[in-house]
Amino acid sequence: MEQSAHTEFEDALTRAWSTQRENHSGTVADYIPELSKADPGHFGAAIATVKGQIYTIGDAEVPFTIQSVSKAFAFCLALEIAGPDLVASRVGVEPSGDPFNAIVFDPGTNRPFNPMVNAGAIAVAGILHEHLGADAFDFMMERFSLAAGRPLALNEAVYRSEAETGHRNRAIAHLLLANDALAVAPDAALDLYFRQCSIEVTATDLAWMGATFANMGACPRSREHAFDLGPVRSTLAVMFTCGMYDYAGHWAYDVGIPAKSGVGGGIVGVVNRQLGIASFSPRLDAKGNSARGVGAFKVLAEHFGLHAFDCT
Ligand code: GLU
Repeated sequence: MEQSAHTEFEDALTRAWSTQRENHSGTVADYIPELSKADPGHFGAAIATVKGQIYTIGDAEVPFTIQSVSKAFAFCLALEIAGPDLVASRVGVEPSGDPFNAIVFDPGTNRPFNPMVNAGAIAVAGILHEHLGADAFDFMMERFSLAAGRPLALNEAVYRSEAETGHRNRAIAHLLLANDALAVAPDAALDLYFRQCSIEVTATDLAWMGATFANMGACPRSREHAFDLGPVRSTLAVMFTCGMYDYAGHWAYDVGIPAKSGVGGGIVGVVNRQLGIASFSPRLDAKGNSARGVGAFKVLAEHFGLHAFDCT
């Protein structure tokens, strides 16, 4: 008898989760002091469909900060608000092959390589602040919440912790200003960036946010419009090539879907026109990706044949 889609999603999540539960490799990020308090044992995953179903396993309702996963959604908003030409004048779309916090710019343009590394994301925050001023964070929060299908909130402790210790990002912001890739005060761009990284989500929220991208910008949970279509397409392309730090090439090779990870332990993946997939486990591998999350995505990609170039 044919397995119902319902059971198949649940079985696949169970398999992905069980194969990774005993994976104790990696370490919790501690360069932002507040992140070091995360429980390394947490592990959850969720799949949301564009038809509005949600499947979850493990700690899918445990909150954590979105961190770099926010970069994808912020980039999408910058494209909408400022237009692709202005955005292209501030940040590229080339994979850098460097770690997320590298202080390096494209030598041809003096711009950050892409919006998925810190330098590019701070430039994007600068664009949003330039166009929306003091309302930029509320605007971002509203759209992120529409994409998640519920009101999200800021984790004040993580925001303060990063704002107090983010000297490397401060250095990057000042270099952006020196390179004309920032048109607002570095502190304004940084404050927005630190806040966007400190938005609290669950794996379930991230799955809905991924499904919103898969659903051309409309949240399948709330049916509300969160993002414009053109920017979604462009963002998915950059997620595909640059979303997984300096593991992006391996990820495209092994998993083959657009994705973005963050040092809070979250990963969101998008199966275009079909699914948002998310995992949460705070232990990170040497590249900064959630170790269990990468393992779980590999199992799911294999199980469902998700790879963009699968032939079956
Ligand atoms: N807020 C973090 C930072 O800038 C984000 C890093 C990440 O998740 O990759 O260091």
